[in-house]
Amino acid sequence: MKPDGKSRTREENIMKKQHHMFIIIAGLMLVLVAGFVVGRHPKLVTQATDHILTVSPAEAAPNASEFSPTKPLPEFDVYYPGTEELQPDEMRIVACGTGMPSVRPKQAAACFLVELGNGDKFLFDIGSGSHERISALKIPYDYLDKVFIGHLHVDHYGDLPSFWLGGTVMNRLTPLRIWGPSGEKAEYGTQYAMDRMQEMYAWDLATRSGFIDFRGGALEVHEFDYKGVNDVIYDENGVVIRSIPAVHGIDGAVSFILEWNGMKFVYGSDTAPNKWYLEHSKGADIAIHECFLPSVLLVTKQFFAPIEALRVGSIAHTSPEQFGKVMSLVKPRMAIGYHFYNDFDTQPEVMDRLRKTYDGPVSLAVDYMVWNVTKDDIRVRMAAADEEIWPSPALKEKQPPEGTSDAFSEFINSGFEAFPEVLNPIWDEINKIYGTDHKPELK
Ligand SMILES: [Zn+2]
Ligand SMILES: [Zn+2]
Repeated sequence: MKPDGKSRTREENIMKKQHHMFIIIAGLMLVLVAGFVVGRHPKLVTQATDHILTVSPAEAAPNASEFSPTKPLPEFDVYYPGTEELQPDEMRIVACGTGMPSVRPKQAAACFLVELGNGDKFLFDIGSGSHERISALKIPYDYLDKVFIGHLHVDHYGDLPSFWLGGTVMNRLTPLRIWGPSGEKAEYGTQYAMDRMQEMYAWDLATRSGFIDFRGGALEVHEFDYKGVNDVIYDENGVVIRSIPAVHGIDGAVSFILEWNGMKFVYGSDTAPNKWYLEHSKGADIAIHECFLPSVLLVTKQFFAPIEALRVGSIAHTSPEQFGKVMSLVKPRMAIGYHFYNDFDTQPEVMDRLRKTYDGPVSLAVDYMVWNVTKDDIRVRMAAADEEIWPSPALKEKQPPEGTSDAFSEFINSGFEAFPEVLNPIWDEINKIYGTDHKPELK
């Protein structure tokens, strides 16, 4: 019976059944979609819980009228590199390496990219394996000309040679600028490392000239005092970067503080809890600090001896409980922990332990995690990376390649098979298309 006491007609019953069916199907679809999202991005759900829970159901749900069987979804909770305009007041941070010195497919070693609404971009550390992630962001290499190295462990600058020399064939024509700390001795400083890096790649460098416009192979090194406390090491275009000492390895490790547009980004690189980080990171919008695997997991998962696990996990590095303590004093808008193998079984343990000492917003970073930061909001997503990456065009007009490399010896020269009947058509093809008359010679 209907509420007004009249019985339903057959059509009304069919419509009612159809309506119920629709609700059931829609419900099932919602469960499936929700299951897919949770299954696809478990980290978003667990790692950015604080942010997600502050959004009301009305804010969270897209308007049903925006859905269509033929149009794209109205909203993607994913960052597709190269598809979003950064707003003038916005900061975007992308994790390009969050793991350990021994890199693995899921996690490269330390590297965070900071992009600002004024167009400036900064790389903080460039650890082993991170170049691959950087390239996946599809940013022209000329825009990626500023690298800040926190210390000279391989997991914090191991991909610099690849980025530096590989970048020259990805159309970088601007010198690469490097900032890094001095050491207690000259040979522990960044300048020494950069000089030796260029010596180490002497053969590579000798082969490059004469083939391509190699202006992007120039290095500009800025070494600063590792003992500087909140000293300005960079001040351009409204962006100020300071360094503070870090407690890690031996003397010569530092952390960085970037300030722009009233926002503060702190990158700890590697450090044990220390007074400088506590004092100068206070109230940061984003505070990144290492958060190592609990010592017990270093024994059971990484097969360290107990004494190794304690030394590495609580003295050389920062345990989750220590990370939480630091963040409870710094009180950032978003704390970011990194530098451990972040998996389905390790992450809950790390989270439980840091929650003993910290109850504020936190992300446990994995590679390709993205934070969009404004004064009002911090949005946390994962980036979807393509595998088939090609370079962007050069941002400057290319100049003809200068000079030649060390010429081949007569011995090697005598071994070259020119095959003119093969080479000439290749040259003719290019010269015909581009109106040129190039006849490259073996050097
Ligand atoms: Zn280190
Ligand atoms: Zn490290």
